[in-house]
Amino acid sequence: MDHFSTWSARDNDGACKCCTVGALEDVKHFVVDCPKYAAVRKELIGSLTKLFSTGDAKGTEFLSVLQGKNKNNLLKLILAHEIDHSKVICKKFDKLVHCFLYEIYEIRNSFIFSSKKLSPLNTCVKSGVNDRKVSAKN
Ligand SMILES: [Zn+2]
Repeated sequence: MDHFSTWSARDNDGACKCCTVGALEDVKHFVVDCPKYAAVRKELIGSLTKLFSTGDAKGTEFLSVLQGKNKNNLLKLILAHEIDHSKVICKKFDKLVHCFLYEIYEIRNSFIFSSKKLSPLNTCVKSGVNDRKVSAKN
């Protein structure tokens, strides 16, 4: 996942513009850490918890990741989701994760770019854009 680590950092200071944590806005921060998306993330985890409450070994393994404190494992579960489960569960899982990623991406861009419709290729924060919203580093 290293190629994701400079998602926003390549043309600005890299600090997340959506929260005041002061963290680098890498994929880990975006997907599992940023408090800006906590409510949506909580919804995803709730839905995945229901999905994986199958009583079998795999389901139990995924539940322990969802309920655990290890954010790296959670990130792996969400993004590198080779979840090796039944087709129905895989399909539902993919749909939930895609909706979650879409939603947090929309929240991020409506906050940083004032709801302008942008291609994902043009949503790296340029230096100087919205400096007044940046409290992390200043
Ligand atoms: Zn953040």
